[in-house]
Amino acid sequence: MRTFPNLYIDGAWRSSTSSTSIDVIDAHTEQVMGTIPEGTSGDVDAAVAAAKAAFPAWSQTSVDERAKYCERIAEALSARIPEIAELIAGEVGMPQGMAAMIQAGLPANEWKVTAQLLSEVKFEEQVGNSLVVREPVGVVGAITPWNYPLYQIVLKVAPALATGNTVVLKPSEVAPLNAFILAEVIHEVGLPAGVFNLVSGVGPVVGEAIAKHPDVDMVSFTGSTRAGRRVMQLGAESIKRVTLELGGKSANVILDDISAEELPKVVGKGLGACFLNSGQTCSALTRLLVPAAQHDAVVAIIAEQLPGWTIGDPKGGAAKLGPVISAAQRDRVRSYITTGLDEGATLVGGGADAPDDQPHGYYVKPTVLANVTPTMTVAQEEIFGPVLVVMPYADEADALAIANGTPYGLAGGVWSSDPERAKQFARRMRTGQVEVNGGGFNVLAPFGGYKQSGNGRERGAHGLLEFLETKSMQL
Ligand code: NAD
Repeated sequence: MRTFPNLYIDGAWRSSTSSTSIDVIDAHTEQVMGTIPEGTSGDVDAAVAAAKAAFPAWSQTSVDERAKYCERIAEALSARIPEIAELIAGEVGMPQGMAAMIQAGLPANEWKVTAQLLSEVKFEEQVGNSLVVREPVGVVGAITPWNYPLYQIVLKVAPALATGNTVVLKPSEVAPLNAFILAEVIHEVGLPAGVFNLVSGVGPVVGEAIAKHPDVDMVSFTGSTRAGRRVMQLGAESIKRVTLELGGKSANVILDDISAEELPKVVGKGLGACFLNSGQTCSALTRLLVPAAQHDAVVAIIAEQLPGWTIGDPKGGAAKLGPVISAAQRDRVRSYITTGLDEGATLVGGGADAPDDQPHGYYVKPTVLANVTPTMTVAQEEIFGPVLVVMPYADEADALAIANGTPYGLAGGVWSSDPERAKQFARRMRTGQVEVNGGGFNVLAPFGGYKQSGNGRERGAHGLLEFLETKSMQL
């Protein structure tokens, strides 16, 4: 049980103006595993005032000094990887070994990467008779989701601080404990008071107070398209810079030149790209597009491979997938499965019923629906659970139309035995990233969405530029 009774404001642990707390629930045991303060708009006011007061001095520190802070945070966070992995395995439900790499190791490393990338930013350049300088935006409000909770936080807080901004963070109330560990680390390395502030609480209270606060210069939001739209509306009042990393419904397209011998490997990778973190990944490839002539062969391969996607206790067991995060999420995902079947999809494996080998925990059976057509609900809406839909297409033009035929545009995948053909197809996909023939994850590649998957880019040098203003001085 981890109890964090205080918020982190102006360099100190302070009680909230409310006396209520929020329980954090372990996704496998369904028991309370921690509590955090339920912050208020008054707490946001205090945090924003501290961040505003800290900005003039922090924004004038040297790039080297800020890079050193990032390196120290990377070290201190790395020392706590096992603890963070165990916490997030409980909060989110990702198997602990994988959580150590993805949920804890990746964010710790991101601080180091950010420190290195600072040397690539052109803070000053001469353009004709102008000196063009890049300066921090000011006070940044960061609002983050629960699925990769610490990584999503660090993708905002590290570049924002590194480029000289001050920050007020509101982590997801569903998986917030890791954010308190980060605040402890930041306190330990001695970041000046007010440069980083943490206010926990629920979206409609703390999130909205940040989004509409006149002294917050920028909001960097990651979460659902629904909440992102609200944040953008509230931010419009004070013409804030609002960057949004939102949902997805990404297509994984198998082109018709993939041979029967290659198909099992390609399909296997496709299952992995959908099921990681029990399907709770914004960039999950949740629609598998296959040539109509190969649909049944693909379905047969899936039926063979699906039993290998075992579910069970994220701590200690050998299961590939843990539970989904909450009872609400479990019910939502199961109801999508039912809707898909009602609308005419066929069940390859899994299903909406409870798995009989899990007496507790928010489990959903890894599920594949086939013969899915573009207008079905499960082909259009983000499910955010371990559910893959298989969609037959007629020809390459049809595949592209289906791939681009949702309101989202976050990620995608394409497979062809001809790498040039795959690349040409990838260029025509209206998404922020595409895995070409299974191309691997790259921590330096910009990440973000087209269309209703958001705007702006995180990660890499692009991720630093988001937090900078540009000033031209005519000389
Ligand atoms: P969510 O939108 O419910 O919550 C995200 C954050 O916004 C939380 O901190 C929440 O408290 C806050 N919030 C909720 N309502 C708000 C409001 N009215 N005003 C201000 N803040 C508010 O999303 P979630 O359920 O935590 O996360 C899942 C979603 O996030 C999925 O849609 C997923 O695709 C998306 N996501 C996107 C990316 C990306 O990089 N594009 C990454 C991870 C998750």
